[in-house]
Amino acid sequence: MEKIKMTTPLVEMDGDEMTRILWQMIKDELILPFVDLKTEYYDLGLPNRDRTNDQVTVDSARAACKYGVAVKCATITPNAQRMDEYHLHHMWKSPNGTIRSIMDGTVFRAPITIPSIRPVVRNWEKPITIARHAYGDVYKSVELKVDEPGTARLVFEGRSGRRQEVEIHEFEGSGVLQGMHNTDKSIRSFAHSCFKFAVDTRQDLWFATKDTISKTYDARFREIFEEVYEQDYKEQFARLGIEYFYTLIDDAVARVVRSKGGFIWACKNYDGDVMSDMLSTAFGSLAMMTSVLVSPDGNYEFEAAHGTVTRHYYRYLKGEETSTNPMATIFAWSGALRKRGELDGLPALVHFADRLEAACLDTLNAGIATKDLVGLMEGVEPRAVNSAGFIAAIRERIVL
Ligand code: NAP
Ligand code: MG
Repeated sequence: MEKIKMTTPLVEMDGDEMTRILWQMIKDELILPFVDLKTEYYDLGLPNRDRTNDQVTVDSARAACKYGVAVKCATITPNAQRMDEYHLHHMWKSPNGTIRSIMDGTVFRAPITIPSIRPVVRNWEKPITIARHAYGDVYKSVELKVDEPGTARLVFEGRSGRRQEVEIHEFEGSGVLQGMHNTDKSIRSFAHSCFKFAVDTRQDLWFATKDTISKTYDARFREIFEEVYEQDYKEQFARLGIEYFYTLIDDAVARVVRSKGGFIWACKNYDGDVMSDMLSTAFGSLAMMTSVLVSPDGNYEFEAAHGTVTRHYYRYLKGEETSTNPMATIFAWSGALRKRGELDGLPALVHFADRLEAACLDTLNAGIATKDLVGLMEGVEPRAVNSAGFIAAIRERIVL
């Protein structure tokens, strides 16, 4: 069989622990036999990040901006314990944070759904994709605790010398205060990423804030989304028959629960933090959650939403078999290959990505699953296999 040819390289970001092991297995068993794989390889494993003073992370993100499509393995975000374990020179920042700030992107998370794993919310028939604005608000706020009567004010001093001031509260006793911000630039980038991804995946886009209460701050989010939509996406949306829908956050939550799914839900930073955990739990398993970072100018980085599965890795190091679920990591590869194929006009590569995903779903629908899924499956007689067995079963089912 002749292997499928690629033209532009995929940016490959390798990672750590159990997912690094799965990464190699996925490439060897599910990709290299079928695709004449062209990648620009960056080793984001913690030892190499330490060796390169984290330059490799920066370089990989720049490459993602240059080529437009990257696929990333889960990576360790160092903490005190990892400093000792890996004898690090420095507590390097989260690679995902570094990549996100260089690509200026928004993260979209979507569950892989199968008939035998029913979501907790019974009327959800299709996945719900959540997009979280990853800048500002309470995550970049300053706070004060006061313990006497006094006046709190919000002051802005413009470089022009112009001054704006409002009273926040006249305290009669002790209390707390918080100052937070966002920027038009960041909100606009977020909006572009969301509209782009909606066009890309042909799904409706929902957005919600609390602009009835926050008449300036949240209203600014609504205004910018509206502006970006009217200027750049309205016609494309109409052509594709998809909708942009704005409502209040509490109304959105109620509608999401009553919906059939199948749309993108754009959330402000805090709402996204809370709601993405709610959605991923309700859909079943973190191991089945995919994640893609989309930049406002249309660059993509695909990955699994879960981490490096450390507990399984320590068992693997002791020579024990593990049943770690590779689904989200395989879908990161298929997502990246499909996007590369679309951008480069390579239908065979797009077709391969479709067939690979279909083989994964066929395997699960036949009841062959990793241990994490066995307890969640209904209506099939599940058979638990280890990671290698699962990947082998997928390979048998790839029909080109
Ligand atoms: P984790 O790696 O997501 O794993 C947490 C637990 O979830 C696992 O112990 C396992 O439960 C289950 N799980 C997650 N993915 C699974 C899979 N594919 N198959 C089967 N079970 C799975 O989170 P963590 O243990 O909190 O973090 C480990 C490391 O990952 C940390 O160093 C963290 O910094 C990093 N991390 C990286 C990313 C990223 O690169 N995007 C994201 C999150 C965390 P059982 O042990 O009960 O089987
Ligand atoms: Mg959270």
